[in-house]
Amino acid sequence: MAASRTLRIGLIPGDGIGREVIPAGRRILEALPSSLGLKFSFVDLEAGFDTFKQTGVALPDRTVETLKKECDGALFGAVSSPVTATKGYSSPIVALRKKLDLFANVRPVKSVAPSAAYPDPIDLVTVRENTEDLYVKEERSYDTPDGPVAEAIKRISHKASTRIATIAGEIAARRARVRQGLGDTSKQAMVTVTHKSNVLPQTDGLFRSASFAALAAQRFQDAGVKVEEQIIDSMLYKLVLQPAYYDVIVAPNLYGDLLSDTAAALVSSLGLVPSANVGDGIVIGEPCHGSAPDIAGKGISNPIATLRSVALMLDFLDLEEAASKIYAAVDANLADGKLLTPDMGGKAKTDEVVEDVIRRL
Ligand code: ATP
Ligand code: MG
Repeated sequence: MAASRTLRIGLIPGDGIGREVIPAGRRILEALPSSLGLKFSFVDLEAGFDTFKQTGVALPDRTVETLKKECDGALFGAVSSPVTATKGYSSPIVALRKKLDLFANVRPVKSVAPSAAYPDPIDLVTVRENTEDLYVKEERSYDTPDGPVAEAIKRISHKASTRIATIAGEIAARRARVRQGLGDTSKQAMVTVTHKSNVLPQTDGLFRSASFAALAAQRFQDAGVKVEEQIIDSMLYKLVLQPAYYDVIVAPNLYGDLLSDTAAALVSSLGLVPSANVGDGIVIGEPCHGSAPDIAGKGISNPIATLRSVALMLDFLDLEEAASKIYAAVDANLADGKLLTPDMGGKAKTDEVVEDVIRRL
C-alpha cells in the first residue's frame, strides 16, 4: 500500500450549476479506493456573482489567502457574468488566475464515440499560456485627422513561453507513459507549437524559439515526445479537419483561447470538457462550462466535466494512479451509455451519474 498522503482541497462552487457539480467532485474524491493511501480534507470557499450580490465582493480575500496558504488543489465550479456590465463586478476566476499566477490553462478534449464527421478517436490537450500576450489589457486610443485609432500591447516573454512549453512537454510525456501502461500504441507523443511568427517575428517569434528550446530538453526526447509547429490559422483548419492527429497543442494566450473553445466544440456537450488552471504550488480544476442558468436547480447538470477536472487536478498533483481510475470510470459510464444526463440525450440526474461513476471506480 502506498504511503498515506493528506491533501487539502478548496471547494469554490460559485454560481448556478457550479453548486451542483462541485459537490459531485468532492464525492468522487471521497470515494477513491483506500488502497491508494490518499486522504482529503476540504475547505468551502466563496466567489462569484451571488457572493458579489451578498457582500459586494466577487472574490473575497479569505478565498485567495486560504488557497495560497492551505490548499494543494481546488475545484472551481462556474460563475455567472451579468449580461450588462455591473459596477464593481469582474470575473473572480480571471482575478484568481492573476493573484495565484495560474500561468497555464490546460484542457483535455476526448471524444465519446466515433461520429460520422470524426470516425477516429479524438484525444488531445490544449495548453494555453494564461498571463500575457494581448490579454495584458494595455490598450489606448487617440484621435487622428482620419478619426480615432485604438491599439493594444501584445507582450510575450521568454520566461512565460518557456514555462508554458515545459508544462506542455510534461503533459505529453505523462500521457505517453499512461498510454504505454495500457499497451496503447495508437498515438505518437507530440507537442504542436502554434504561433504566427511569419507575420509577427518578434513576439510570436520569441514564443516559437523559447518553446522549441524548452521542448528540446533531454527528458522530453527520452519520453519520445516529438515536437512540431503549426501556424495558428492552418492549426485551426487542421484541428477541425483531422483532430485525431493531435496530442498536445501549446499556444500563447489569444490563440490558445480560440483553440481551446474550438477543440471543445469537437466533442458534443460542454458538460464533458474539463480544465485545469496550473500555477507553482497549486492547481485548480474547473469544468469548461458556465453556470448554465437555464438548467440550474433542476439536478440535471452533467457532472462529467467536473469529475474529469478532479482527475486532471490529481494528475498535476502527481497522483496519476488515482487520476487514471477516475478517467477510466468516467469513460466506462459514457461507453455504457445507460446513465447519461439530458444534454447527452439521456434521462439521468446528476446524482445518478455520479453514483454510476463511483460504482465503476
Ligand atoms: P454563463 O454566462 O455562466 O457562461 P451560459 O448561459 O453561457 O452561462 P453555459 O454554462 O456556458 O451557459 O452553457 C451553455 C449551454 O450548455 C446551456 O444551454 C447549458 O444548459 C448547457 N450546459 C453547460 N454546461 C452543462 C452541463 N454541465 N450539463 C448540461 N448542460 C450544460
Ligand atoms: Mg457561457
